[in-house]
Amino acid sequence: MKETNGKNYNVDSFNLDHTKVKAPYVRKAAVKTGPKGDLVSKFDIRFCQPNAEFMPIAGIHTLEHLIAEYIREEIDGIIDFSPMGCRTGFYLTVFEDLEESFIAEKMLNVLEKVAVWNKPIPGTDPKECGNYKEHDLEAAKTWASKWVSGIKEKGYQC
Ligand code: ZN
Repeated sequence: MKETNGKNYNVDSFNLDHTKVKAPYVRKAAVKTGPKGDLVSKFDIRFCQPNAEFMPIAGIHTLEHLIAEYIREEIDGIIDFSPMGCRTGFYLTVFEDLEESFIAEKMLNVLEKVAVWNKPIPGTDPKECGNYKEHDLEAAKTWASKWVSGIKEKGYQC
């Protein structure tokens, strides 16, 4: 946690100074140790520059479905992948204390595929999703390619 704002909130991401980061990036927000010794690490996968841009709801929803499904082919021990309420990125929670560079490399593998996706979006049946009609593959592809080119240009750090 490099870019702290000097406060000490219970929520890790509130302690990040969102004016000092440069999106896109991968940031290790926290590593927790469970009572039985298991390690869990949590990452911010930021897509949009905070307070300057954000993703449309249907686009972030489609990105969530595609990344949540295919990141599990890249990394063992994924616990959760879910959108930030501010719609500027996602949280990734995973077993073990993993490195930002490792996560960035695996996210690149997934998002390079998503950027040119031409197959059905997984989990978009009314039995499989809570709002199955609200998807936008074109927006998901646009933001996936923005993430890929941004990370390749500037690196994965915030
Ligand atoms: Zn859904």
